[in-house]
Amino acid sequence: MTVSLFQVFSIGIGPSSSHTVGPMRAALQFISDIENNGRLDEVANIRIELFGSLAMTGEGHQTDIAVLLGLEGEKPEECDPSSVEPRVAFILRNCTINLLSKRTISFHKEIDLIFHKGRRLPYHSNAMRFKAFDEHGAELYKQIFYSVGGGFIIDHEQIFSPVEVKEGSEVPFPFATCEELLAHCNRENKTIAQVMLENEKIWRSEEEIREGILNIWDVMEDSVERGCVTEGILPGGLEVKRRAPALLRRLKETDQNPSSVLDWVSLFALAVNEENAAGGRIVTAPTNGAAGIIPAVLHYYMQFCENPSQDGIIDFFLTAGAMGILYKEGASFSAAEMGCQGEVGVACSMAAGALAGALGATNEQIENAAEIGMEHNLGLTCDPIAGLVQVPCIERNTMGAIQAINACRLAMHGDGEHRVSLDQVIKTMYQTGLDMKHHYKETSEGGLAIHVSVGIPEC
Ligand code: SF4
Repeated sequence: MTVSLFQVFSIGIGPSSSHTVGPMRAALQFISDIENNGRLDEVANIRIELFGSLAMTGEGHQTDIAVLLGLEGEKPEECDPSSVEPRVAFILRNCTINLLSKRTISFHKEIDLIFHKGRRLPYHSNAMRFKAFDEHGAELYKQIFYSVGGGFIIDHEQIFSPVEVKEGSEVPFPFATCEELLAHCNRENKTIAQVMLENEKIWRSEEEIREGILNIWDVMEDSVERGCVTEGILPGGLEVKRRAPALLRRLKETDQNPSSVLDWVSLFALAVNEENAAGGRIVTAPTNGAAGIIPAVLHYYMQFCENPSQDGIIDFFLTAGAMGILYKEGASFSAAEMGCQGEVGVACSMAAGALAGALGATNEQIENAAEIGMEHNLGLTCDPIAGLVQVPCIERNTMGAIQAINACRLAMHGDGEHRVSLDQVIKTMYQTGLDMKHHYKETSEGGLAIHVSVGIPEC
């Protein structure tokens, strides 16, 4: 097990972790590999091909924009969202691209960036093939990448070569299942958060871990604040109006109503997901499509639970990270493989367990909360209208956040005893994802995407 909390939660830009963040990373790795081989000066032409779900919904998810920026040397965690539009306009207007901001070559998007709609590569639905050519048209370098969810990418070569585990890089408490995780906890008399902390310490000091977590929380808070004040229509042509600012105004007027807690939680989730849909800066948690759930539940902890604390925030993220790793090891975050149960379902489960962890629940209650959070999302399909991460995605995050809180409360009313284990529900989710028709796995070829008619004008 080599996944860190800081891979499950990474800072990036919207609207999609698998279709924006992953492709940007892949493009950057491709061009960096060429530079590291000392051949950047020979590159005269680049060709990018997108397959499967990346081809079907890549335009709505801004995959094309992400790969262009990656080729220019941009990283998702550093990319300034306000610079994206002018930079891409410059590339398209001048038909040039500045590789790693060091070498300018001609680039014609309609020829050099190909969406292979209806074609898939065998390993994963989110596939990209990059090729570089010299001035005579001879191929210099070729690489295939898969964006496997949550911004993680795999180079085609990695699939067939065993992962090299460097000496000293093994975590003290490896786990791939909740049973293994709980066994460590019981043997060491530790909470799930404490076991995660020990594992994280092989990469960073405790101080750095705490700082890193609080930095992630800062970015989440900023995305809620920005989403709450930014009015307007979301990009992409669906004419979806941002709802968070109006809801905030309404809540400020009618805050006395006890059920307004639900509205506040919805507000936090709406704000983040509207920012995500607009290409703003957010935390991938564990994906961009589901990025509102965990911040909304943590805002709920901070604003509506008794005695919230900084230690509670740390425990929240460490527990959420542990739950995320279980899904990464036992299933997938990728909607192209699992449908929306792999995004909103996983985020709901992580948030439920994390909230229980922050509130001092037992390890068994945490497991129960995370299990409930997924059990009632099993079979959730991914059918975004017009390939945009807007409908049903934005509202669905409000549902996921409220469900997570309810899952946590149900679990904490019990003593940790439960019939279905988290491992069983993860296995069920994985099998359900495999059985799901590909129409419902981020292709926009089924569900709401075909039953809701939209007239998006040509750009
Ligand atoms: S429907 Fe769910 S999985 Fe699909 S893009 Fe929207 S949030 Fe992501």
